[in-house]
Amino acid sequence: MTDDDLQFDREHIWHPYTSVTHPISVCPVESTDGVHLTLTDGTVLVDGMASWWCAIHGYNHPALISAAQDQLQTMPHVMFGGITHKPAIELCKRLVEMTPKPLQTVFLADSGSVAVEVSIKMAVQYWRCKGNDNRRRLLTVRNGYHGDTFGAMAVCDPENGMHSLFRGVLLEHIFVGAPACGFHDAWDESYITELKQALDENHQDLVAIILEPIVQGAGGMRFYSPDYLRRVRELCDEYGVLLILDEIATGFGRTGKLFACEHADVVPDIMCVGKALTGGVMTLSATICTEEVSHTICDKGVFMHGPTFMGNPLACRVACASLDLLATGEWSGQVARIENRLQEGLQACTEMSAVANVRVLGAIGVVELKEPVDMHTLQPRLVKEGIWVRPFGKLVYVMPPYIMSDDDLAFLCAGIRNVVAEL
Ligand SMILES: *Cc1c(COP(=O)(O)O)cnc(C)c1O
Repeated sequence: MTDDDLQFDREHIWHPYTSVTHPISVCPVESTDGVHLTLTDGTVLVDGMASWWCAIHGYNHPALISAAQDQLQTMPHVMFGGITHKPAIELCKRLVEMTPKPLQTVFLADSGSVAVEVSIKMAVQYWRCKGNDNRRRLLTVRNGYHGDTFGAMAVCDPENGMHSLFRGVLLEHIFVGAPACGFHDAWDESYITELKQALDENHQDLVAIILEPIVQGAGGMRFYSPDYLRRVRELCDEYGVLLILDEIATGFGRTGKLFACEHADVVPDIMCVGKALTGGVMTLSATICTEEVSHTICDKGVFMHGPTFMGNPLACRVACASLDLLATGEWSGQVARIENRLQEGLQACTEMSAVANVRVLGAIGVVELKEPVDMHTLQPRLVKEGIWVRPFGKLVYVMPPYIMSDDDLAFLCAGIRNVVAEL
């Protein structure tokens, strides 16, 4: 990449959540391999982000590359309307098999946000097909993140989401406080009082409760008790409201279980998966629902959604290869090992003056600071340590590829300690 390239980038290209008139500096990456990013100037960074949680097997995994190459030769894409193909069937078979048993019907979409839109449409159509047109709203908790499209944005945290920017345009849903009980905290029924009361007052208006199970990701990197989720499931049954679990960030082993809902032994009516679905190679997501949901909708009509690139064979084929890697079961030991290494490596941050809290669950490590970070200075400082970590707000966090070695994990944690110690 030349200086001209970077100049063009600054002037003409929007990066996520950025300005083209006040651009932030971006890192020119030349190539990826394993757990490493190689920059144009030859610098090699240990990647703590797995490209926003996706590259769980590391970059350029030979099994994923060869699946993609093979599929490219025969059929990179074909429409899914009126047509089917083996990569989609194989993928949906695996998804039905690996998710909790009641989840039986799969809708393939292109991104996490769209999978969330689809889940909301399923919930709305479900109630309309049951002859109930009055239900229009969702109930959720604060500090959630479900994506950047309109339906998804409306259930993101009202403050750190984009509600003020889009006021008057977004649907208004019902919010209760984020779960206050940490992952390991002993259960007390008072933790669920507010949600229960909101259900009690609003259940006849609700199509569903939507939550990220156990880990709230981009809305605050918070971990909460499986008992909370268990109670939510019970209350949904009691009040006759559907439960949508957004496993887009947590799915495929990240929290130590294949799906985070397994921590609580609950099954949603509708589950969204995305991010790590293709091991970080292609964009793909899925919304999987129970037969109660799919059959109720289809007894009266059809499910109304159909993206152009739905069921893209290339993406499906790579996803199959990624799920086959997960099927070896190796991820489980890898994630448990990463959990231990992150605990050891980040523990020392607890003592630092800038730090409010350190928490680790599965292959997720979070150092929460007392004040929001200044990305203009912090990002280059992290790069100088030889690590790729992208903090937001008060959160310096890592979500490494599952294959990261103990040495690289130690290096990653040391880099974070060095940087946070200076704050
Ligand atoms: C990332 C994320 C999404 C949105 O996925 P995109 O692929 O970015 O549209 C939705 N829900 C959760 C929990 C996520 O982490």
